[in-house]
Amino acid sequence: MGQRVLFTGARQVVTCAGAPRSRRGPAMADAGVRTNVAVLVDGERIAAVDHEAALRRAARDATVIDCAGRVLTPGFVDSHTHAIFGRARYEEQELRATGVPYMEIARRGGGIHASVRDLRQRGEDELFALAEPRLRALAAHGVTTVEVKSGYGLSLDDELKSLRVIARLTDALPMRVRATWLGAHEIPLDFRERANGRREYVQLLVHEMLPVIAREQLASYADVFCEPGVFTVEESREILAAARQHGLQLKLHADELSAGGGAELAAELRALSADHLAAVSDGGIAALAEAGTVATLLPGTMLFLGKRDHAPARRMIERGVAIALATDFNPGTSPTTNFPLVLTLGVSQLHLSAGEAMIAGTVNGAGALGLADHVGQLAQGFSADLALWDIEDVRELPYWYGQGRCHASWARGKPCHVHDLALTFPR
Ligand SMILES: [Zn+2]
Repeated sequence: MGQRVLFTGARQVVTCAGAPRSRRGPAMADAGVRTNVAVLVDGERIAAVDHEAALRRAARDATVIDCAGRVLTPGFVDSHTHAIFGRARYEEQELRATGVPYMEIARRGGGIHASVRDLRQRGEDELFALAEPRLRALAAHGVTTVEVKSGYGLSLDDELKSLRVIARLTDALPMRVRATWLGAHEIPLDFRERANGRREYVQLLVHEMLPVIAREQLASYADVFCEPGVFTVEESREILAAARQHGLQLKLHADELSAGGGAELAAELRALSADHLAAVSDGGIAALAEAGTVATLLPGTMLFLGKRDHAPARRMIERGVAIALATDFNPGTSPTTNFPLVLTLGVSQLHLSAGEAMIAGTVNGAGALGLADHVGQLAQGFSADLALWDIEDVRELPYWYGQGRCHASWARGKPCHVHDLALTFPR
């Protein structure tokens, strides 16, 4: 038995409890808002969620944390970030706003290749020092599980360097950090300039990078940027099929700009998630529903780029797709660590209810990482990942938009972020 801690006095406990898997369709609407309920944590796990009076009697030995009328929820799962990068790219925002097209920004040395050039010049320690406060900022917004992708290295050494930084973050931070290899984020410029360069880069990914990454166990997932002009559906299939052979689970950047068959490919490969999907087709939606692949929607990216053609979230829910929400935290198109702001956009732009947004940020985010059997719910046996909010009703989470209302968070029973030191566990 580990250290027992009893969370009492919450105005609402939002359990998100249900079957231990991604939630679809009408089932997404019920976030399990309960009152007069306490949560008992035993070590790294939740031991019970029950009436407060009963739990107080049953757990007299437990350390009590008084939630003082706040709202207690599962910690959020940010299942899509690109947090390993060097410098910010704020100058591109201004260029975009004044109408300079992306291709011209790229020609002037901006865009993803700017982040690649920059990351290649930095050492592992420097990248770690840059990334660590970014993940702590996510934790300060209630995120207790975060997926982090490589993908600004695009060479064997630089992808390995990025993934080693993620491994160090996994050890250094209390939050749960999961690594994704995204060597197929873009085709490096030097390969693009060569006649047979595309083919050579895919060969490098499959035959040189992937075996080393799998052998050193530096990633749990593989991801590909499948979009016209980047990786084709055929190339994406080849890379992901090889990744599966090496034991990695699959994710896919799909149908962000045009319906090019990305969602269908993710479904065909039984990927954990297809991400972006602003331009997904009806056929793609049907394929995701049939396969049970989670649709991870990233409305912060659309907001930041000034785009209005958001992913058809309501149609997806009607057709039985499980939707997750994530920040897409990255230096080019979504430089935010504010997870509740993404919930706001889920409600105001994707037309989700507050309950659906909660499930999308917890249970279904965990589903997008293959963790839904023990992460994302306040339920017996689940990981003790909790967030405490300075609000009285869970609907205030998407309502106070852009604010930092997270009072404290805990991952696997350990403090992840605290405003009030009295809330840290005694050691
Ligand atoms: Zn992305």
